[in-house]
Amino acid sequence: MPTHTSEKAILIISDGVGDRPIAALQGKTPLEAAKKPALNKLAKKGATGLLHILSPGIPPGSDTGHLSLFGYDPRDCYTGRGPFEALGAGLDLEPTDVAFRGNFATVNKAKDETFGVIDRRAGRNLPEGKQLANLINGLKVPNYPKIKVIVGHTVEHRCVVVLSGDGLSSAISDTDPHGHADSVLTSMPLDDTPEAKTTAQIVNELTREISRILTQSPVNAKRKKAGLLEANTVLLRGAGVLPEIPSLKEIYGISTACVAGGALYKGVARAVGMEVLTVPGATGSYDTNVEAKAKATANALKTHDFVFLHFKPTDSAAHDKDPQKKIAMIEKFDHMVDTLTGLIDMNHTHIAITGDHTTASTTGKHTGDPLPLLVVGPTIRDDEVSEFSERACAKGALGHILGMAVMPLLMNAIDRSPMYGA
Ligand code: ZN
Ligand code: ZN
Repeated sequence: MPTHTSEKAILIISDGVGDRPIAALQGKTPLEAAKKPALNKLAKKGATGLLHILSPGIPPGSDTGHLSLFGYDPRDCYTGRGPFEALGAGLDLEPTDVAFRGNFATVNKAKDETFGVIDRRAGRNLPEGKQLANLINGLKVPNYPKIKVIVGHTVEHRCVVVLSGDGLSSAISDTDPHGHADSVLTSMPLDDTPEAKTTAQIVNELTREISRILTQSPVNAKRKKAGLLEANTVLLRGAGVLPEIPSLKEIYGISTACVAGGALYKGVARAVGMEVLTVPGATGSYDTNVEAKAKATANALKTHDFVFLHFKPTDSAAHDKDPQKKIAMIEKFDHMVDTLTGLIDMNHTHIAITGDHTTASTTGKHTGDPLPLLVVGPTIRDDEVSEFSERACAKGALGHILGMAVMPLLMNAIDRSPMYGA
């Protein structure tokens, strides 16, 4: 049973919440334009600052952004996004496994044996995704029979692919042309090791084998008959291995839990040792149930020292270049924060609120602009700032800090940060 003497901490991330001034909002950012009474109330009570997730001017991915926020340096431990997606999809990984993100896609075979890409997403709507993943899960790569191939469907046209065996490397290039080329790319080794060379060969052979199996499948025959695009290959990207890092428990001696909808966030959370909670209604999409998430977080706090609460729709709205939608999603986020703070003991809880990167609604892309950061709790000295936004938090007491400092800051506030020195 939890002891009430232990202080608790929550890290709340609104994905891609930062933005740039938008002309249509009279030069305000969506965060500045949004109504956010709960966030402003916490800003008034707490300390604020600007956060450079990786370092100033470097646009983070969501994976490297979250690793930094959890206190890890991605430059030391990050190889690719694949393993986080795989963990988030519920697969278990060995340290020697190489994991990829995959897209079911539509290709045609050109006469030089390369595959021309017709649609990178096989029409995107792919209700047969799980069936197709099952067809290729466990397949044997003809010249590498000892390599295990694990395929798991995630959402829509997306899947994860894991290669398991000896002598593999993640230093290989994608087969996914990412819209920059019109055919499936040949995976190439990215360093001089025999492991990279072999793994690239395995991936190329695997791609041909997947295409062979999917082309013959009754699922695709049915899709073709119905006038739908065939899902006849898998494009691979983001090869990576699990980072070799100590868990948050090992570093801080805390028990940790994650409340998130999207697979990637659950995956990064699992990689640092968090217990990933299943929350009905937490979808990672615009319709995500923020009250369910707030309640799950408050409940998790009864049995864990630290909870990571993730909110995705702010990033999605910015990728859709829809600042009005982003404003609405920030207001939804504010409601989640309001619900949560009403359910927990604020006298024994510290909360940090920020994002994992700026996502500009103007370009739909992640940028390296710094993010507002807010830390509130009984040990925090308040500052003059009373608004949670990019410009307001620039005047805060925390100044400019790096993403990797958030976790030590929060752990220090609950007296869990180990002393450096003697
Ligand atoms: Zn993100
Ligand atoms: Zn994003």
